[in-house]
Amino acid sequence: MALRPVLRFPDKRLRRVSRPIGEIDESLRELARDMCDVMYEEPGIGLAAPQVDCDLRLIVVDTAWTAEDAERNPLILVNPELSEHEGKVVWTEGCLSVPEFEAEVERAERVLLRALDLDGKQLEIRAEGLQAVCFQHEVDHLDGVLFIDRISRLKRNRYVARRKKQRKREDEDESAAS
Ligand SMILES: [Zn+2]
Repeated sequence: MALRPVLRFPDKRLRRVSRPIGEIDESLRELARDMCDVMYEEPGIGLAAPQVDCDLRLIVVDTAWTAEDAERNPLILVNPELSEHEGKVVWTEGCLSVPEFEAEVERAERVLLRALDLDGKQLEIRAEGLQAVCFQHEVDHLDGVLFIDRISRLKRNRYVARRKKQRKREDEDESAAS
């Protein structure tokens, strides 16, 4: 089965604010399964629904997974909300929607995440370190925020300029191929 394509910066659909999920039904379960497939295939440690062009408040996260170990225990989080931000940590982040770029981002070191699972059960997860960073990165996506919005203007502008050139080349390659 074909994977859902990941939207890439500067696609405007990444900037939408996603809608809360009212009902957990089969189509939502299917979306969650598809998102996990994309996350493991790319690979990444998290994915938010808007990255696959669905404006719903759904994220999947698996910070324990590595290609070598390959054990998959994704957290599927419906309507996630963060509170109790504590401490500060700087982590080098990347994003499947921001190709070929990484940068250091300052985030809270610890957060409390509340969400529903796919059975509608309330979850409460106290996260720290990489998992806390990943939760903050993915919940940002639901509000149309990318990690490049949280770095210095200088670094962001450099990336935006580089991405512009890259996209021009991609367009030229595409028109040459057709
Ligand atoms: Zn991302």
